[in-house]
Amino acid sequence: MAETVNRAAADRAFFGHPRGLATLFMTELWERFSYYGMRALLILFMTASTSTGGLGFEVPKAGAIYGLYTAMGYMCCLPGGWLADRFLGLRRAVLWGGIVIALGNACLVVHDIRCFYGGLALIVIGTGLLKPNISTIVGQLYSAGDARRDAGFSIYYMGINLGAFLSPLACGWLGQRVNWHLGFALASAGMTVGVIQYLAGGKHLGEAGLRPATPAAPGLARRHKRQLQFGLVAIVALAALLGLLDWTGAIAITAQGLSNGLGVLLLVVSVVFFLWLLSMGGWTPVERKRLVVVGVLFLASSLFWCMFEQAGSTLNLFAQRSTRNSVLGFTFPASWLQSMNALFIILLAPVFAWLWLKLGRREPSSPAKFAYGLLAGGLGFAVIAVGAMVAQSGERVSVMWLAMVYLLHTVGELCLSPVGLSAMTKLAPARIGGLLMGVWFLSTSVGNYMGGRIASMYEAWPLPELFGAVAGFGILAGFVLALVVKPTVRLMGGVK
Ligand code: GLU
Ligand code: ASP
Repeated sequence: MAETVNRAAADRAFFGHPRGLATLFMTELWERFSYYGMRALLILFMTASTSTGGLGFEVPKAGAIYGLYTAMGYMCCLPGGWLADRFLGLRRAVLWGGIVIALGNACLVVHDIRCFYGGLALIVIGTGLLKPNISTIVGQLYSAGDARRDAGFSIYYMGINLGAFLSPLACGWLGQRVNWHLGFALASAGMTVGVIQYLAGGKHLGEAGLRPATPAAPGLARRHKRQLQFGLVAIVALAALLGLLDWTGAIAITAQGLSNGLGVLLLVVSVVFFLWLLSMGGWTPVERKRLVVVGVLFLASSLFWCMFEQAGSTLNLFAQRSTRNSVLGFTFPASWLQSMNALFIILLAPVFAWLWLKLGRREPSSPAKFAYGLLAGGLGFAVIAVGAMVAQSGERVSVMWLAMVYLLHTVGELCLSPVGLSAMTKLAPARIGGLLMGVWFLSTSVGNYMGGRIASMYEAWPLPELFGAVAGFGILAGFVLALVVKPTVRLMGGVK
């Protein structure tokens, strides 16, 4: 063990970081390439008329599916992390996840509604297996005291955004200009390259994530196995019951119905989770106060992602229907604007890192940064509400409107996202650290879900009002949080 750690500390092959980071960087780059490339096309493909090769869905249905799909992807990170910890080991979970994602995107290449839904389900499962576990392996590349860890995660974050930047340009162009299904094929090919690269580079990862954690007590392994069996049986039984009820005509399973069901499920899971946490015995008064802060940050984070993740839904539709997609005479497909956030991240992340450092002791606390995030998210929607008002004349508006939104949303993301997970983990006592990682993904899931519900209303409400309402909520929430920053910081009991 000591020798592995020493070797890790000595390994500076990738920008001063262990060579294994390059392998994980590229794997996640390709995974996000496939995720965001496919997502850039998803709502446009669903709402495109059948005569243009689309699915011809009404917007309420497309929005419901979009919310269901994106929220499920993040929700599956919870069982995905659990499975890897207990049974698969992180490395194998990432490998299988990548393969399943590539297969899922390959299903979308076939123009058949069952393949479409099956493909989405596979991508959800694959993402749950890959996304949480690959970032845990990144953490394992460094020994406990290694000062390079944070910088390692920043480099890794650049990989995410490089993938997210390139794919809408490539998949978006192919999908919108040539053929929808070719766009999905490219997303599948990207993930395949990622998997091959991951297999080839596996030797650089050393011991990191190779085996599942050994259970603390011998009886525990059996208990985990029983939990797994119970979970699988419950899922199959529920699916069979729903299928049977649908078949007998007692209920009709629709995308909207499933989406409603997921909404209820997310609400129940979140409430039960927090109640369960609070009811667990053994909290010291300080820990209990910190848990309240976790709850506040959970709410703020859900609201932020609800605004931010509309990039692929409402804002994507606005780009297609109401924006003049040309710059200096060069016209491009609407999905290209999906690259903007990632581009701004790549440009601005170093600026923010410098800014926080420069502020030193005056660097805002985590709750203050969350408040800025909400304000930036809401302001973005205020801008596009005005843009939508201008567009009401029927004339397409300049691309600058959406550029402004994405700039503001990126500023919000840089305030909230990098500190989010680390604030959660610092607030939690070490014994439930893993659970808190789940809370973070759950908040993203809730946000994605709510964003999809809003997208469903795209045609039902006048756009300036819809965007204006989102802006109002975001800004109001930001102000409320700003007002309670001081007492919240006090509840944190010394954690920054
Ligand atoms: N955009 C980042 C990613 O795709 C983070 C999303 C989130 O944390 O919700 O990895
Ligand atoms: N910026 C997002 C993620 O961090 C990527 C995207 O939404 O395009 O990293």
